[in-house]
Amino acid sequence: MQTHNLGYPRIGSHRELKKASEQYWAGKATAQQLMQAGAAIRLQNWQLQQAAGIDLVPCNDFSFYDQVLDTSLMVGAIPARYHDLMQEKQLPHIDLLFAMARGYQKDGYDITAMEMTKWFDTNYHYIVPEFTANQQFTLFSNKVINEFNEAKRAGINAKPVLLGPVSYLLLGKEKESGFHRLELLKKLLPVYTEVLTKLEEAGAYYVQLDEPCLSLNLSTAERQAFVKTYQEIKSKLPQLQIILASYFECYGENLPTALSLPVQVLHLDLVRCPSQLEDILATDIARSRMVLSLGVVDGRNIWKNNFETSLGLIDKAVSQLGSARVWIAPSCSLLHVPCDLDLEKNDNVLTPEIKQWLAFAKQKIDEVVTLKQLATGENKEVANARWKENLDANNKRKTSLLIHNTAVKARTAAITIRDAARNSAYASRKLQQQEALRLPLFPTTTIGSFPQTAEVRSWRAKWKKGELTQEQYDELIAHETEASIRWQEETGIDVLVHGEFERNDMVEYFGEQLSGFVFSQNGWVQSYGSRCVKPPIIYGDVSRPTPMTVRWTSYAQSLTKQPVKGMLTGPVTILQWSFVRNDQPRSETCTQIALAIRDEVVDLEHAGIRVIQIDEPAIREGLPLRKENWDEYLRWAVRAFRVSASGVEDATQIHTHMCYSEFNDIIEHIAAMDADVITIECSRSQMELLDAFAEFRYPNEIGPGVYDIHSPRVPSKREMIELMEKAKAVIPADQLWVNPDCGLKTRGWPETKAALEAMVNAARELRAAVAVNA
Ligand code: GLN
Ligand code: ZN
Repeated sequence: MQTHNLGYPRIGSHRELKKASEQYWAGKATAQQLMQAGAAIRLQNWQLQQAAGIDLVPCNDFSFYDQVLDTSLMVGAIPARYHDLMQEKQLPHIDLLFAMARGYQKDGYDITAMEMTKWFDTNYHYIVPEFTANQQFTLFSNKVINEFNEAKRAGINAKPVLLGPVSYLLLGKEKESGFHRLELLKKLLPVYTEVLTKLEEAGAYYVQLDEPCLSLNLSTAERQAFVKTYQEIKSKLPQLQIILASYFECYGENLPTALSLPVQVLHLDLVRCPSQLEDILATDIARSRMVLSLGVVDGRNIWKNNFETSLGLIDKAVSQLGSARVWIAPSCSLLHVPCDLDLEKNDNVLTPEIKQWLAFAKQKIDEVVTLKQLATGENKEVANARWKENLDANNKRKTSLLIHNTAVKARTAAITIRDAARNSAYASRKLQQQEALRLPLFPTTTIGSFPQTAEVRSWRAKWKKGELTQEQYDELIAHETEASIRWQEETGIDVLVHGEFERNDMVEYFGEQLSGFVFSQNGWVQSYGSRCVKPPIIYGDVSRPTPMTVRWTSYAQSLTKQPVKGMLTGPVTILQWSFVRNDQPRSETCTQIALAIRDEVVDLEHAGIRVIQIDEPAIREGLPLRKENWDEYLRWAVRAFRVSASGVEDATQIHTHMCYSEFNDIIEHIAAMDADVITIECSRSQMELLDAFAEFRYPNEIGPGVYDIHSPRVPSKREMIELMEKAKAVIPADQLWVNPDCGLKTRGWPETKAALEAMVNAARELRAAVAVNA
């Protein structure tokens, strides 16, 4: 039996990589200093894992930006727009890498970055490979070989990790028409075999090839590409031991393909899909020589492993295959969890009671090793003590009064269909809302936040440090809020917002006020490049002890006669951007959050707020990887939104906001959310996104974003009118709102004011045109 790890967090336990890269980008550190910072993190990670007792330690899991981008560099898939940087400028690899990831605007160049998108269903983002019809591949970067040699020199029993060729192609995009990227496989494979040959020559015995696309619904042709690839690799490198890793889901209907591949080790994510072990053991695998790597320690969440459950799976596999053919590992790379629980030193924040239920990357490594010891009987005394401790912690968690709130459980159990529906159908609500709000045609609004200037952020920092008293801080926020209300009134916006100046982050702000949530101090996880997030931890039943937003919203409403829109984050988004408890279904936790938000919605209504927005930007990214699981997810996610929104009178207008594209495949579920108004990102797609709504005859109101808030550029009135004309061509005018794409918190005031003034003028002109035609 061997233990191995699929990947370790590469940001460094104190975010050293973030700091080093940002220093380098700012010109405050040399390339050599950056390289040294990277080498130090790698060495630390390797030594930590080896010392913990991991038999095969991953290398090349490190990256200065992203492992998919590293793969593009390895195989020389460098889009043409960067070629001048290579030839004329002779840019070193590291700068080329950053240019591809972040764009290059200096020395007279203006080259855009490559696209970035979410890595499967995680919050990690990768750089999307770009392919052309006559794409060539050559071995361009030796990073993996260098890192293997580096690990070897450091005395590490290292296993190089590479993104497999089929997933690499599938994760990319064709930048020209007339070909499919899988057709490039025959050109790509020689580069992979060249790399693998070099690794073998350097002394690598095992190589891990990640093929996470085996967790998706694949076509026959795609499955055949896997067979062809791994047969080719086997024929070129008969001695090399390949560990094939997929994760985040079951192999599902791809299982026969996976089992047929000529690889030595097949990795299984038994956290996401424990049942597949039995499926595999029921085949004739026992007669083959394939080793199974059991991913029993959760690489996606921060809970302590349940040794009893894991050992059950391990024993089952060992009894059929023998100990030598069973390996133990985390379910996937540990990239998706924070580094080290031992760094959480503030007992008032992460109390000892909660802390004993958790494991971050370093602790998960120990769990993998202990599980092997328990399964094999090695190091008996220590292992048994750890088992006892594990059993104890898990038992305490099961019965903890901190976690279990009978009132909350009773309330979620008692939800009825009525709780998830407004009093009347939309058509009737629309009339009542018109009566109550008296808004013009093409009403204008914004998505919620106004610029979080350095000043606003400095107030919060000072208040947290105790340099500002609560009263002083509140006064500053009140001032800023009032100024924003006055400016919106003067500008002529119809539905105002308070500006969200008091909020740090749209999930954190609510998590901090809800019971059942806790925050780590150092629980950072890489999101993309140097960017890290610190997701809240939902450990217990969720409830709302006191109102969360009523104070600032009603303060803003007290300043004006115009309606001020209350601003809340929706239950699915709060769930999606947190570490969620694993001792009950996610749907249950989501429903509890929905009830807490519902209470807030009702309180806002009682405080005189007539328009309330419940943001759900993450509802689509929560979609399961496999289509067969979509319906179930959408059923509970949509219901959670409806529960949160349905406690109010018909005349209260509920908005929602989503900032992503591609509604086509879930439009009926978006409609089923039954928000009175939905505002969406649309400007970058030139309103093409609206086609889905038009085709579906979306019945409620829509605010298609008329300008892109991600850029400081100020759009003209004309451009916005043109976009609205396009919208009007497919959606009846009395269903349309005029608003930006998303919140404005990352923008500065000057461009925000100029853009919104132009937007209000655009709406006025649209109204005038309708009046003339009438
Ligand atoms: N109300 C939030 C804001 O304006 C919405 C943010 C989002 O969609 N991500 O900032
Ligand atoms: Zn948005």
